[in-house]
Amino acid sequence: MQESYLFARMPPVMWRVPGRGSRGNGVSEAIFVTLATNGELGARVRRAAVHLESCVLCPRECGIDRTAGERGWCGAGLEPRVYRHMSHPGEEPPISGTGGSGVVLFSHCTMACAYCQNYRWSQLHEGRDRTAAELAGMLVSLAGAGCHNLNLVSATQYLPAVLEALRLASGEGIRLPVVWNTSGYESPAALELLEGVVDIYLADLRYSRDDAALELSDAPDYVETARAALREMKRQVGVLERDPDGTAARGLIVRHLVLPNDLSGTEDSLRWVASELGRDTFVSLMAQYYPAHRAEGCPEVGRRITRAEWDRTREALAAAGLENGWVQELPDGLSGIAGTEIAPDQGPERGA
Ligand code: SF4
Repeated sequence: MQESYLFARMPPVMWRVPGRGSRGNGVSEAIFVTLATNGELGARVRRAAVHLESCVLCPRECGIDRTAGERGWCGAGLEPRVYRHMSHPGEEPPISGTGGSGVVLFSHCTMACAYCQNYRWSQLHEGRDRTAAELAGMLVSLAGAGCHNLNLVSATQYLPAVLEALRLASGEGIRLPVVWNTSGYESPAALELLEGVVDIYLADLRYSRDDAALELSDAPDYVETARAALREMKRQVGVLERDPDGTAARGLIVRHLVLPNDLSGTEDSLRWVASELGRDTFVSLMAQYYPAHRAEGCPEVGRRITRAEWDRTREALAAAGLENGWVQELPDGLSGIAGTEIAPDQGPERGA
């Protein structure tokens, strides 16, 4: 997801955000800075690079040698391909804050959602290959633009280069919290590399039925894989904490996009979050689904969700007893949902 629905420009409606969890010093410093300073981040880069030789960076575990030019299921090459980097005002309130979230949209993806609003870069692979140093330059420019955080969207397939870019950005004085913006389809190997690097996990929980995940996203064993990943994310970063200005400092946010015909298994997922991650987990409930990409004309997901479906979702949220997060208003039309409206980065090709 991860993708597409993060691009709703309509502000989600907060149902409750308690004023707790501030680090107390008024300013959050990203936790990766510690690892960059003591040399551990460099060690992580080297360990991550080893995974490329028999790629297990995502749960598909293709086992191909990407250092030899082989490409696995996701089709990603060795260098990170980036579609766009920009300040984004439309994330959840503590992520976008007043200064915007510093989003980097990576091309390719470890899932293939039929309805992906970001399909131009996630599945058609638009974008440009960048070096880790160029990626670090993007992070520096986002910090310079006043963004509150570095929001890395669907970056798993490029994990070694992303870690190296963070190491380089740290050397340039970058101290912004890192947001790992993910479909939730993450491997233990990736999450181990991310511990102590990521401040905020912004993670989808897309399905509660594996048959739906397989049919719509070609993601085998999604439910247990994502649930195990979310448990680990919660262990690493805990409940969302915010700085005094309200922006996110550290913690987990679970996103759930409601699909037509309950293919997202919303009630089950919300119950699972409350019972396994805790009722105090911050949840972002998204109403903005529309049939993009291959979903157009598809009998099951070829329409928006109805008012009745959204009302049932709200009832399920109340029944689950979840206390914190945001819900969207059911949008009237597509204006304000920006996924496929985003233009790629402009500028000269590398070396030009
Ligand atoms: S990141 Fe890509 S190549 Fe590596 S295991 Fe996942 S799908 Fe396969």
